[in-house]
Amino acid sequence: MTALSYRYVALTDTGLRRSTNQDSGYASNRLLVIADGMGGAAAGDLASSETMHIIRQLDRELDVDAMGALGQAVISANTRLGELIADDPAVEGMGTTLDALLWDGEKFAVAHLGDSRVYRLRERSLTQISTDHTFVQSLVDEGKITRDEARVHPHRSLLLRALLGRDDNEADLSWLQPMLGDRYLLCSDGLTDMINDDVIARALASETIDMAATELVRLALEAGGYDNVTVVVAEFVEKSAEPDPHLSSADGQPQLVGAAASQARPRTGTGSGGTSTAPTPFDPEELRYAPRPPSRLRWLRWAVVLVVLGAILGVSGAAAYSWSQRQFFVAAQDGKVTVFRGVRADIPGMTLQHVEQMTNVELTTLPAFRRKQVEDGIEAPSKADALKTVEQLDEFAVKPNPTPTPTPNPTPTKPSASPTKTKATVSTAVETEATWRR
Ligand code: CA
Repeated sequence: MTALSYRYVALTDTGLRRSTNQDSGYASNRLLVIADGMGGAAAGDLASSETMHIIRQLDRELDVDAMGALGQAVISANTRLGELIADDPAVEGMGTTLDALLWDGEKFAVAHLGDSRVYRLRERSLTQISTDHTFVQSLVDEGKITRDEARVHPHRSLLLRALLGRDDNEADLSWLQPMLGDRYLLCSDGLTDMINDDVIARALASETIDMAATELVRLALEAGGYDNVTVVVAEFVEKSAEPDPHLSSADGQPQLVGAAASQARPRTGTGSGGTSTAPTPFDPEELRYAPRPPSRLRWLRWAVVLVVLGAILGVSGAAAYSWSQRQFFVAAQDGKVTVFRGVRADIPGMTLQHVEQMTNVELTTLPAFRRKQVEDGIEAPSKADALKTVEQLDEFAVKPNPTPTPTPNPTPTKPSASPTKTKATVSTAVETEATWRR
């Protein structure tokens, strides 16, 4: 049998209707992952990025038993979500879908949970490998509706299983045996809600996988782009094949996109290793407008201090000081989220930071995770970026509830697909708890 390896690409777009991206995507020569977070703006990106950070550690833990390692990583991610929810009631109800394909050199170990999908294109024929854990899929399985009807069903977003930090939602684990020439697609429902399988098949067959990924995202946006759209595409080639210099994976670096790229940090203690946290070349804006924790830039601050100190002692002190005063960051001042000009370091006898603009976003209204980010300081390349960060933080703020007004004639409440995903109970053949995805 021909020894195989694969080329890969990961691409995401926030879409045309959402202000934040709660999807995370990852592609490397050993691991392909997608996670679509849910639970409202406050938590969806946290759930997907935390899950991604735990799952992608598989990329360096060389375990001969790929399936065992993958199953364990899913359990660890679930445990982590449970801890975050226990620590911060504000993120109660958050969760994520997960599809992870771990390459053991011959085949993929696959973990699947939720309604993100895995497709295979083999000799121009498209097959959905994963089975959606959704209410509408149960109707399809029972022969009550067709796949096309499921795609536009008003309850298509109702999930029956997802990674929710609880112990009653297990992932489907299976093996997948690729063949030479196969292409695989992992995608969030922001793609499959927008375009059907025939369109996906044609786009996935594009000349190169990079073109396929770009075309898939473009088509989802053209169809309305209602949701975040994320695709991870892989193509199997002979292991001895030279890297194609025209492809984004030619550098051999992993590709991390979406919420996990915005919040990349070594939360689990093993560091980021050789994993790149840079966005793909397709989506340079992805990181630019997302709140970022300071850990990745802490070295920069200290470098700035040293440079400024050195420069002050030298001839270009004024220029260095002037440079420092063109930097911005978001931090806390008097309990409010505040934009500062300068850098977060002072030299004896000299202050390198001052308040540029106070905002009315109260620190106490932010979820604990966001509050900590602000307390640590969030760097921004410009004042506009700093203000954009404040805007995003404000979206996470818990606004005080208005005083409830008594309703003269109360009517029975019916389930509605609210913008935030909340729990609802549905009657299906197997009575179970379901989760609204939006
Ligand atoms: Ca989605």
